[in-house]
Amino acid sequence: MPDLAFRPKSLPAPDAVAAAHRVAALAARRADAQDCDDGFPAEDVADLARAGLLAAPVPAGEGGAGLGTEPGAADLAAVLRLVGSGSLALGRLYEGHVNALQLVARYGGPGDRRALFAEARAGHLFGVWNTEPAAGGLVLAGDGRLAGVKTFASGAGHVTRALVTARRPGEEAPLMLVVALEPGTRADLSAWRAQGMRASATGTVDLTGLAPMARLGGPDDYHRQPHFSGGAWRFAAVQLGGIEAVFEAWRGHLARTGRGDDPHQLARLGEGAIALEGARLFVARAAGLVADEALPAERVVAFVDLTRLAVERAGLEVLGLAQRSVGLQGFLRGHPLERLSRDLATYLRQPAPDRALTGAAAAILAAEGPMAALWEAR
Ligand SMILES: Cc1cc2nc3c(=O)[nH]c(=O)nc-3n(C[C@H](O)[C@H](O)[C@H](O)COP(=O)(O)OP(=O)(O)OC[C@H]3O[C@@H](n4cnc5c(N)ncnc54)[C@H](O)[C@@H]3O)c2cc1C
Repeated sequence: MPDLAFRPKSLPAPDAVAAAHRVAALAARRADAQDCDDGFPAEDVADLARAGLLAAPVPAGEGGAGLGTEPGAADLAAVLRLVGSGSLALGRLYEGHVNALQLVARYGGPGDRRALFAEARAGHLFGVWNTEPAAGGLVLAGDGRLAGVKTFASGAGHVTRALVTARRPGEEAPLMLVVALEPGTRADLSAWRAQGMRASATGTVDLTGLAPMARLGGPDDYHRQPHFSGGAWRFAAVQLGGIEAVFEAWRGHLARTGRGDDPHQLARLGEGAIALEGARLFVARAAGLVADEALPAERVVAFVDLTRLAVERAGLEVLGLAQRSVGLQGFLRGHPLERLSRDLATYLRQPAPDRALTGAAAAILAAEGPMAALWEAR
């Protein structure tokens, strides 16, 4: 059980946004100090727990605030963006926690829901670990024990409840399992010598010998659409926060140095604002389409795929413009832009971007009716 000074509370969703503001402000102050190999935002995670944000995604009526079930998931989108703007590493960890609790809510049986939601309320940090190597990935053996590893697992050595995908020998469709972990065990961070997101503790975890504490849903439910691909809106919301942070560091630099009157600098800032605000619109609409569940799965997935790429493009554009505007200063340690740029560039790398683009394009090509109506509920 995590060592918490006092029991975290739950809170209604609008308060979650206010809490995220506070947690993000503190996280932003600590983020540079956490930016090292094997770094981890432990104090920020404790803040999330104390502010009630670890419990907030638990459904209302089951001890939580139902964060994410409000219309258009607007509060969850704001919380993810805010936390990401304070610290992208913390945002990545919180997004994994939210994802895990949403999967428990969608696929968990009554007993598992009760137990796992109680653990979230008690301050356990959850994660979702799906990525694994081509050989040596996670298998659930006939004796009910796991064998193998997960890779690129954020919060490795810190997450104490991990939702993992694992296959039975000879089967393709993965199961969703929850494992209990002791802090500081089974994690190998030696390969996470990353350019950015160093504080996310994204490592390899060897789960061999563990017996899962819960099984959620049936085979391949993890990949069920639109929630599998559609869930990408959440990491896009965190990335949006990271883009905002870079934009603000750049804007602050121009104001501080008195270089903002220059027409070239102004033009770049304007172009960056277009990219940033475009990304914001995409994320809000994607969150709403997933939350409303009013459109066929393939339409929702196509829009979220476009959102992923629009946000990625906005991030790359803002990074390029900011680095051009600030110049060499922005590459020196100690300048606000330096770490923020590394974190964002790293966190923009998400799975299969080419497939997301061509998949969305194919869905658009196959759809009937005008483009303008593709994402309008009838
Ligand atoms: C900070 C961070 C934290 C993470 N935490 C977690 C976590 O907690 N849990 C987890 O499960 N995962 C995690 N991941 C891993 C993440 O889910 C992805 O696996 C990872 O980001 C993939 O990035 P990639 O650039 O290697 O993608 P890839 O999908 O390998 O894409 C790289 C390039 O190859 C192309 N490509 C992809 N597939 C093919 C193909 N078959 N043939 C040809 N080209 C192809 C892509 O379009 C792209 O151009 C994390 C990643 C990051 C950056």
